[in-house]
Amino acid sequence: MNAKKKNLIVGAGFAGGTIANLIADKLNEQVVIIDKKSHLAGNSHDFRDENGIMIHKYGSHIFHTNSEKVWNFIKKFGSFNQYMHKVYALIDGIETTIPFNFNTLYNVFPQKLANKIEEKLLQKFEYNSKVPILEFLKQDDKDLKFLANYIYEKVFLHYTAKQWNVNPKDIDSAVTARVPVYLSKDNRYFQDKYQGIPLEGYTKLVENMLNSPNIEIRLNTNFKDINEQFERIFYTGSIDEFFDYKFGILPYRSVNFKFETHTKDFYQQNSVINYPCNYDFTRIHEFKHYLNDKSDKTVIAKEYSENFELEKNERYYPVLNDQNINLYNKYFAEAKKLNNVYFLGRLGDYKYYDMDKAILRAIEMFEEVCL
Ligand code: UDP
Repeated sequence: MNAKKKNLIVGAGFAGGTIANLIADKLNEQVVIIDKKSHLAGNSHDFRDENGIMIHKYGSHIFHTNSEKVWNFIKKFGSFNQYMHKVYALIDGIETTIPFNFNTLYNVFPQKLANKIEEKLLQKFEYNSKVPILEFLKQDDKDLKFLANYIYEKVFLHYTAKQWNVNPKDIDSAVTARVPVYLSKDNRYFQDKYQGIPLEGYTKLVENMLNSPNIEIRLNTNFKDINEQFERIFYTGSIDEFFDYKFGILPYRSVNFKFETHTKDFYQQNSVINYPCNYDFTRIHEFKHYLNDKSDKTVIAKEYSENFELEKNERYYPVLNDQNINLYNKYFAEAKKLNNVYFLGRLGDYKYYDMDKAILRAIEMFEEVCL
């Protein structure tokens, strides 16, 4: 009999990988980590295809964080390049930068109009400030009102309808606030101190986290098929599934990627181009840009949003509105009654975490529960 404590981690994405690593490494306890998928790294999973191009199977993942704690943790498991993400969007037929900033202003409007608006913006807002679009809409000045309506319509309205199947005003305001109007000339999508793509990919990063004699990995494994006893369970799957959906199914949005291989150096000028107003897809990803992969081919993915349905597709985004948060809260209340079962991760917490936030949550949970 092994005297070490046994922990079960359900889900081998960033949240599961982080807590598994910390328990195995810092406590020297045994960990079994399972995933129903056939691979590690959850929806951050990537792999090199036959052309040597690193493909992000579930869409572009860009690591970015301001947290020293997260950065110091994650960089132990692999090196990152110095990629700084930019996103272009097709607005009025022009490929321009988003978040909408002063450069976008000059790209889409005649110079005279842009000058006038820029002046008014600088009178009203501090340079470098970020204003969520739903806030930005509250303008008294006629020109600023025109600008706000323009951005709302051309950047947010149709994209959000495609992505969430609702109007931007009917989704948690934090969602559109992720892409604020940016009173700046900084074209980057994120301003975090640390940004990059892991040189050997996200899957390798998670594999390295789990590389310990204390950790046993079981892929293609469902939680319901586990019969052993564990002293602690960390569950990063969807919390409603754990409770057999007894209060109802938590809604998520899913994504369907249509991959295409083209025989050319590059398909588009940037890793991601958004199509807020055109076509049925929201954006096109081109993966070669991330690690500067060399090939005479290139792989792109057109991203189509759809509703999550059990057994049909994957969960990607929690649909955060009052009704769904109330439903989540019912499950959360049930979870609190359990001894030694802990929920974390985007699905476990029903929160729109970026990778760094999922890692931070796992580190904090480890410190709270295990130390
Ligand atoms: N969004 C938009 N138009 C854009 C980009 C983003 O309306 O061109 C809105 C949309 O509602 C989206 C949200 O902002 O879901 C957050 O965008 P982000 O790029 O952060 O989404 P993610 O990359 O996580 O899918």
